[in-house]
This record gives sequence, structure tokens and C-alpha cells, in this order.
Amino acid sequence: MIGLFGGTFDPIHFGHLRPALDVMEFLSLDALRFIPANRPPLRDEPVVTSRQRIEMVKLAISKQPGFVLDTLELDRHGPSYTVDTLRLLREKLGGKIPLVLILGSDAFAKLPQWHAWEKLMELAHIAVMMRPDAALDESDFPDGWLAGRLTDSVSKFNRKPAGRIIAVPVTQLAISATDIRKRITASRSIRYLTPAPVCDYIEEYGLYQ
Ligand code: ATP
Repeated sequence: MIGLFGGTFDPIHFGHLRPALDVMEFLSLDALRFIPANRPPLRDEPVVTSRQRIEMVKLAISKQPGFVLDTLELDRHGPSYTVDTLRLLREKLGGKIPLVLILGSDAFAKLPQWHAWEKLMELAHIAVMMRPDAALDESDFPDGWLAGRLTDSVSKFNRKPAGRIIAVPVTQLAISATDIRKRITASRSIRYLTPAPVCDYIEEYGLYQ
């Protein structure tokens, strides 16, 4: 079973990495692919290149077995719909292996606004990263949609390639890339918010100044 974790990773930080590891352990994933997204065109300057975001992901995950980088969205240029990314991954990996899209609970609540969102469930399972005491909200979805797919059994996930939803409790870290970029602009330290090699890389190349 393979996990898929998309994000702009601008830069990657412990708020991505620790919850991703929690999900990998909870679901006994064989691998977790970090999939950097193309940056929306109007995002704030100064620009960090895709190559630099990729380098930072590599530095952050290199010591963790099972964590891998997948640049398929960046290789395509322009924004990618998740459904298209999943179709491409299915072409590469085949139809049988369970794929698990990993989403924060905020992103999951907005799933019905995504392009071809119901099609997603034919291509992958979804794991929702939750606060330990939180629950998913049925009212974000059409009647019965969530209840028909939700499971708390990891083995049910393994039995099918796609179509189920599970809530996974993850470590809560109030870290965001936005906050990291702001700290750098204000000449404040970002140590201990992201792995040391990422801090060093940002410093060395003067990123986000
Ligand atoms: P930005 O502040 O630039 O919007 P971000 O820190 O939220 O960035 P993204 O790359 O946009 O990072 O996030 C990728 C994924 O990681 C999203 O699904 C997001 O919900 C999740 N994520 C980001 N920060 C955290 C965190 N601290 N805890 C749990 N999940 C997180």
C-alpha cells in the first residue's frame, strides 16, 4: 500500500513530516510519496525554484526509509488536478495496488469542491489526518456518502485498491510554511521548525529573504 502526500512544500517542515510518518505507521504503508505541486502562478515573491523545493524535500526525507520523492506534478508544468495525478500514478503502478491519498481534515472537508472529486474515490483511498479528539463531519458531503465509505479497519483498506476513507490521529504541530517564510523575512530563526539540513540549505542559498 502506497501513501501519496501532495503539497507545495515551500518549504517542507516538521508539520508535514511527523504527521506523514504517523500515517505511514498507522496504515503500515510500504512507501509514502511526497508529491510537490506546481506553485500557483500568483504566489508571493521572492521565487524559490521548483528545483530548490525538490532539493529541500530530498534533504528532509533522505534518512527515513519508505519516504520517497515523486516529481510527476512538477514534470508536467502548470497546475495539476489531483484526479489527473492519480490517473498517471495508476498508469505507472497498475490498478491493483492500494493507493492512499493523505489529506488534512480541512482539505478533506472541501473535497466536494475539487475537480471530479467523486472519481477520486475510484482511484485511491483517502486517509484524513486528524486531531486526536476530532471526528469527520458528515454534513460536508451528500447524504450517506461519507458513511458508505468510512472505515476504522486498516485491513479493509488493504483488501481493495481504492474507495475507502479512514481517519488517522496524528501529532499536532502548529507549523506552517507561511510562518516559516515570514520568520525568514523578519530575520528570525527557523531552527527546529524543519530538519537542520533544510535550515542549512535555506541559509546557504538565502531563500525567502
Ligand atoms: P502554506 O503555509 O504555504 O500554505 P503549508 O505549510 O500549509 O503551506 P502545504 O505544502 O500547503 O504546507 O501543505 C501540504 C499538506 O500538508 C496539506 O495537506 C496540509 O494540510 C498539510 N499540512 C501542512 N502543515 C501541516 C501541519 N502543521 N500539520 C498537519 N498537516 C499539515
